[in-house]
Amino acid sequence: MTSLSDLPIRDDLRGREPYGAPQNHVRVELNVNENTHPIPDDVQADIIARLGAAVAGANRYPDREFVGLRDALAAYLGHELTRENIWAANGSNEILQQLLQAFGGPGRRALGFAPTYSMYPLLCTGTGTEWVAADRDADFEISARHAAEWVERVRPDIVILCSPNNPTGTPLALDVIEAVYDAAPGIVIVDEAYAEFFPSGEPSALTLLPGRERLVVSRTMSKAFAFAGVRLGYLAADPAIGDALRLVRLPYHLSTLTQAAAEAALAHADEMLAMVDDIKRQRDRIVDGLRALGYRVSRTWSNFVLFSGVDHPHEVFDELLAEGIIIREMGIPHSLRVSAGTEPETTEFLDAMARYVARHG
Ligand code: PMP
Repeated sequence: MTSLSDLPIRDDLRGREPYGAPQNHVRVELNVNENTHPIPDDVQADIIARLGAAVAGANRYPDREFVGLRDALAAYLGHELTRENIWAANGSNEILQQLLQAFGGPGRRALGFAPTYSMYPLLCTGTGTEWVAADRDADFEISARHAAEWVERVRPDIVILCSPNNPTGTPLALDVIEAVYDAAPGIVIVDEAYAEFFPSGEPSALTLLPGRERLVVSRTMSKAFAFAGVRLGYLAADPAIGDALRLVRLPYHLSTLTQAAAEAALAHADEMLAMVDDIKRQRDRIVDGLRALGYRVSRTWSNFVLFSGVDHPHEVFDELLAEGIIIREMGIPHSLRVSAGTEPETTEFLDAMARYVARHG
């Protein structure tokens, strides 16, 4: 049987591991930070109707500039953004990949603050960009000074800031982003995949965009918007950033069906996001419940919780899985990550954790 190492693959891909979050389908899936609430029935019906119309025109290539979708995304984001400021792709992973293709590449360097989203180093590998992992403090926080010092030392072409950060949940204060931008010679990406879970009234990095043409704010419909299966990520930035990405994107990269489904969902943004408050409540129940069981919990502004002080994370993972509940091992010592579910799912998780602690002390 041919193995990967038998193939004339690029040297820098030899020995690399692909992205591999387990996709076990069990009763309670709290492992990949999805919105576990189903899409409301009337929104489903409207999406299906619009998909029907889109299928009728699918003999033609899609709108390569996805103008209707960009208008809808700009209206959703507000902040006086227009379609010129918006770009979209198949998930924010593809947004990040296109940014690395355009602004990274051989001889170029990207800086991030580990532990952070596991796709950043993989996307760097795929695009031949060097990945430099800076550190965080013991609570996974980053100060403006610490961040700026790293940027000055590494002089990266791209900085990727994840706020709130996956897998820790910790947000970045806007002064950290400003300090990084001021110190950075290149592009600064703020990955706000989980921004809708911010405490209400907390400002997004979108407020920093005016006058900062090297700043990019990346978002997704996969999380709060309950649309992970559709694959729609987007960014807001100076219009010149979109022009850079037009050089590397594949023509017609957003299918007619993707555009129609995303536009339909955005037309029902209030309903699609109606569960966000409940998810935040369930997240807070997880924080309180795990603390009461004696675990340390990181500060979180997202729909997930990183908890540590776990003596045997793999055992916890396995014993929960045996009960039909999947959470996530992140490779951070003595830590596990769990996504907030519906109220019953969250209760099942907390009850299973209490039973685990009762069994093992
Ligand atoms: N950024 C972060 C921080 C994430 O956690 C994820 C998904 N896990 C993504 C980007 C990618 O999401 P998608 O491609 O579904 O938009």
